[in-house]
Amino acid sequence: MAPIIDVHSHLWAEDWLPPAFWDAFVDIAVRQNEKRGKTVDPETIRSKYIPTYWDPTGEKLLERMDEANIDHQVVFGVDFGLALGEPETPIEEVNRAIADFRDDNPDRISVLATIDPRRENAVEHIDTALGEWDMDGLKLHPTAGFYIHDEETYELLEVVQDHDKRVLTDTGPIFAPLYSECSHPNHLDRALADFPDLDIIAAHMSFGWWRDLYAIADSKPNCGLHVDISAWQERAKERPKEFATAVRRLTDAVGSDRMLWGTDDPAFDPVHPKEEWIENVRALGERTSGQRFTRDEIDALLGENAARLFDID
Ligand SMILES: [Zn+2]
Repeated sequence: MAPIIDVHSHLWAEDWLPPAFWDAFVDIAVRQNEKRGKTVDPETIRSKYIPTYWDPTGEKLLERMDEANIDHQVVFGVDFGLALGEPETPIEEVNRAIADFRDDNPDRISVLATIDPRRENAVEHIDTALGEWDMDGLKLHPTAGFYIHDEETYELLEVVQDHDKRVLTDTGPIFAPLYSECSHPNHLDRALADFPDLDIIAAHMSFGWWRDLYAIADSKPNCGLHVDISAWQERAKERPKEFATAVRRLTDAVGSDRMLWGTDDPAFDPVHPKEEWIENVRALGERTSGQRFTRDEIDALLGENAARLFDID
């Protein structure tokens, strides 16, 4: 059996993220329910629901991997401190805790270090994380208010290249108070042009901007662009044709050897379980009309490509 590898997942803990992040989480949950005519109590979401996501030791993550038969998972934190206010735990400590989690589970876990490139110590920290700690690459979240082609970000990309590792960058729109525009796939164009040998993963297939990502991908086959389809769980269910079209187009543009599966969990798992998500991706291979996929393309997407990109045995 081909492996199943999730290239996009997180460990969350209350004090690893700014309070404003959790506030936004509550507001979104309330509004999404309101849209469906349901009233929910924000305090219940805050005190009962959100804590179920917290998993600083990775215990829950490993349990769900076992249940869903996921062979390997790429895990990282997120640095929204400059954008939303600093959390209690500095990002350097979060990255270290995530590296420790990998050290305890080297056969099942790979890890990316993350930092806002505008931090003064960013270059030094990423050099330590990828060198001394041997983390597997860099994760960027430009929605915090920077661009992948900023001078500070380029300094980080150079560190990644020196260590011969890879970059995963968020692409596509996001909730307030974060900035969607900073994660527009158009901004990849410059970075791909300036770092043609670097493996850059565009996360979330750019969500509703997937056509713009396709335009970039299709025009730049001579660089290291990869695409992850994480966080499409709901869209795949609600708009299966659009999902199939997006995956088909992006596969044609970057090549079936550069498409990657992921979840963005723990965010989605409670409502859109990993097992169901894997089934919906496999179902692409069984389509008899519209966009079609071979079994080999689905096996590559679900894990074979990630195994190669992240040097996983
Ligand atoms: Zn994510």
